[in-house]
Amino acid sequence: MEQLLHAGLSALGLPTDGIPALERFGEMLVEKNKVMNLTAITEPADVATLHFLDSVAMLGEVDLAGKTMVDVGTGAGFPGMPLRIVCPTVRMTLLDSLNKRIDFLKEVCDELGYANVDCVHGRAEEFAVKHRESFDFATSRAVANFQLLTELCLPLVKVGGTFIAMKSVDSDEELKAAEKAISILGGQVERTVDYQIPGTDVTHRLVFIKKIKETPKKYPRAFAKIKKNPL
Ligand code: SAM
Repeated sequence: MEQLLHAGLSALGLPTDGIPALERFGEMLVEKNKVMNLTAITEPADVATLHFLDSVAMLGEVDLAGKTMVDVGTGAGFPGMPLRIVCPTVRMTLLDSLNKRIDFLKEVCDELGYANVDCVHGRAEEFAVKHRESFDFATSRAVANFQLLTELCLPLVKVGGTFIAMKSVDSDEELKAAEKAISILGGQVERTVDYQIPGTDVTHRLVFIKKIKETPKKYPRAFAKIKKNPL
């Protein structure tokens, strides 16, 4: 894992001093996965590439240093935990509706000595009641389709901030279908960036959605409504 991470982080132009922490996180992930469903990816080389390098690839595009970010539906900590490891000054909030995953992430933070990570058990649409428009960045991977995801994430972002969605390269139609929702919620697609995960032939996509005006107060709605009647 060490060599793959070293080569991958260097290829992305990122610092390599977080490698020991990434390796420890990887060990804890694989160990905990034996007793709890955290990930289908358990081969060390795949954890290094498909989880860690995929998560941090956005750091080649955006500077998170000293900024606040919320990772919505972080699961076992992706992309938020690797981002925090490689960019230590980001103020990261890891949010998930499954408490056992949040408990695991708290264990990882204790082990790595991270005091500046908030591990929060909650649903994004409920978390937004107290935390709306309070983050410089929101991000999310593999949580919901664009239309739904935008209503979960954009309300959390400050005006002037950015929601960075991690998507597959065949998300064109999904993005098109979400254009109205993005506009209603105060966002504007700024750019999309396709990137190849170092050490693999896998290409993924980042969609940068700029928050250009406040989200109307009635959003986000309860999840049942978001799902039944997407914007
Ligand atoms: N982002 C991680 C990754 O890429 O490996 C986890 C993806 S997993 C498929 C989706 C996660 O989103 C689950 O852990 C689930 O509990 C969480 N989730 C789904 N809806 C959510 C919501 N409304 N608010 C917070 N978490 C949510």
